[in-house]
Amino acid sequence: MKKYNVSIFVPHEGCPNNCSFCNQKSISGKSTLPTEKDVIDSCEIAKRTAPSNEGEIAFFGGSFTAIEREYMLKLLKSAYPFVMEGFFKGIRISTRPDCIDREVCEILKSYGVTSVELGCQSMCDDVLAKNLRGHTSSDVEKAVAILREFGFETGLQMMTGLWGSSYEKDIETAKKIIALKPDTVRIYPTVVLENTLLETKYKSGEYEVMSLDETVKLVSELLLMFEENNITVIRTGLHSGGNVEEGYVAGAYHPAFKELCESRIYLKKIREQIKDMSGSIVVKVPKGSLSQAIGQKKSNKEYLESQGFQVKFEEDSSLNKYTVSVRK
Ligand code: SF4
Repeated sequence: MKKYNVSIFVPHEGCPNNCSFCNQKSISGKSTLPTEKDVIDSCEIAKRTAPSNEGEIAFFGGSFTAIEREYMLKLLKSAYPFVMEGFFKGIRISTRPDCIDREVCEILKSYGVTSVELGCQSMCDDVLAKNLRGHTSSDVEKAVAILREFGFETGLQMMTGLWGSSYEKDIETAKKIIALKPDTVRIYPTVVLENTLLETKYKSGEYEVMSLDETVKLVSELLLMFEENNITVIRTGLHSGGNVEEGYVAGAYHPAFKELCESRIYLKKIREQIKDMSGSIVVKVPKGSLSQAIGQKKSNKEYLESQGFQVKFEEDSSLNKYTVSVRK
């Protein structure tokens, strides 16, 4: 049954600094802070329309555990009764790695928080410093250890193509994240937004963005790495809408970014298997993956046809995600 999540944005609240890339106003499409009534109203609406009680109440946007304590408690106290009543399975929050300690974890636990996501963005300290993150990779490692101690589902968010990063450094970040064994990961390619330090650096020529094609190649590799290590990637690329398009200056942004990456994965897997083939082929792909395997605007199919193949795609429910089976 479909889950119904309530998302409440707490834009830029609690952030001790302005990260080079961040303009929360553009990301969330909102600039006002939610009140207790906003939280209650959103949960009430969800309660009436939700098809199941498997959903979560999610506070996203700022650095939840760093916001003014009284306000943080008000938000939690407004949401918690809905968890207690059994309408939601828990509360999800996102925060910074240097804003996690045992004291705040005790509070989160006592108000029904079950999942915590950390914006780690890079595991390379030079990249973190250059982008004014104000924390180090070792803060991420310490925070993950504390979250595990308290039994929270732990998610890590990483970015690709940050100022001072590279293809290799982003792969290195993914390897270090895998070593921390998070439950979930989100991958966000860097997008230059208006009114950010990155915009200034991009316009002065100090920062060059990674192209969409290079980013798709990189993120398709990251998706495979996480999949091979049984780590669920719950988001790839910024959400469309929410004013991102309006604040967009440059960078790898595409409304169907994940599909582009998955299509790249399937093409790579198909090419590995057709080296000694020619003529008609049948490509079997996992159930639900036909459109990704065929590619956006049939790009994979057309590529294979341009190489002299007559290709037919079929679903095969015995195949695992990102695997293919090609036969003559
Ligand atoms: S910590 Fe997160 S929300 Fe705050 S400025 Fe940095 S990226 Fe934005």
